[in-house]
Amino acid sequence: MMVSLKKPVETWERMLLSGVSSPDELAHSFGIDIPDVRQVVNAYPMFINPYYMGLIKCRGDAIYRQAVPDIPEISELKGTPDPLNEEDLSPVPGLTHKYPDRVLFLVSGRCAMYCRFCNRKRKVGGAGMVTEESIREGIKYIRSDKNIRDVLLSGGDPLLLTDAGLFKILSEIRAIPHVEVIRIGTRVPCTLPQRITPNLAEMLKGFHPLYINTHFNHPWEVTPESALACSMLADAGIPLGCQTVLLKGINDSVEIMGELMRRLVAIRVRPYYLFQADLVKGTSHFWTGLKKGIEVMAGLQGYVSGMCIPRFMIDLPDGGGKIPVVPEYIKCIDGNEYIIKNYQGRELRYPVIKE
Ligand SMILES: *Cc1c(COP(=O)(O)O)cnc(C)c1O
Ligand code: SF4
Repeated sequence: MMVSLKKPVETWERMLLSGVSSPDELAHSFGIDIPDVRQVVNAYPMFINPYYMGLIKCRGDAIYRQAVPDIPEISELKGTPDPLNEEDLSPVPGLTHKYPDRVLFLVSGRCAMYCRFCNRKRKVGGAGMVTEESIREGIKYIRSDKNIRDVLLSGGDPLLLTDAGLFKILSEIRAIPHVEVIRIGTRVPCTLPQRITPNLAEMLKGFHPLYINTHFNHPWEVTPESALACSMLADAGIPLGCQTVLLKGINDSVEIMGELMRRLVAIRVRPYYLFQADLVKGTSHFWTGLKKGIEVMAGLQGYVSGMCIPRFMIDLPDGGGKIPVVPEYIKCIDGNEYIIKNYQGRELRYPVIKE
């Protein structure tokens, strides 16, 4: 009997099996030095799926640098493995409780592509990062603390779980009465948009209020495939945000950032945060000075739609938490008036109102 299998040839599962994960394969594609890459890969995992690989236009470009291992990851010693003190702020392994009303809950140790600048570089891709037990204990912790209103699923990438695996976790969290909002942090709409299927979108719809924050860093990542993925999620009623990381040589200019933000809004993704890169060991070649981020924000304000403007955030070391950094528009007070600079640099006066 003839059975017709209607499955598309390139499923996301298959793409995860056929990606580049060894230095030899990279050498074949880009002619890089195998021993160099081998050293880096011994310290930090590499995986580049065929879709993301296909976005690279040439060696050293903005997509390449996010994905392909580079010697400074092991030769530069600035930074620390866990500058945000996530481990110390974890009441149970894999769950960080830093703010009173919300937790960060790691539910997957894998990613569709391992970003070279990852702030969880110390543990992504490792077998011990997330286990059945850590998930069970995490859910128990959330259930036990009534202050937790907002659960942020992260990893690794939560959307690398199977639909069934994710459904089980979401169901258990949704059943906790004090949890109001569930958020998923995922890079998949950018790095493996094929993962967003009609089935997944339909399943996620059952867990509202559910928000997704994705992570795009460069305009070239906004493709017809990622647009389709985002429209499926948005059509399922899921508000989409983006957490971009400011990265030297990748997106640290007003022009590139402006184009990225406009393209995101056009695919129904609302920029949420622009992060100053965390001071993670092995990533210092991507760091920018705080001045750069302020300059980029000042260059966006007024020149692109307010919908395209994220907040520029630093996640402070030692578990200090995130704070916004804003260009200074208020210059000084002159008698009964503030002197305020507008986005074009023009000085305007605004009265001091006595309360
Ligand atoms: C970033 C983060 C959150 C979420 O912060 P928001 O500003 O609410 O997006 C929660 N917990 C931890 C530990 C975090 O690092
Ligand atoms: S997708 Fe996120 S967690 Fe995974 S490697 Fe990239 S930055 Fe790290």
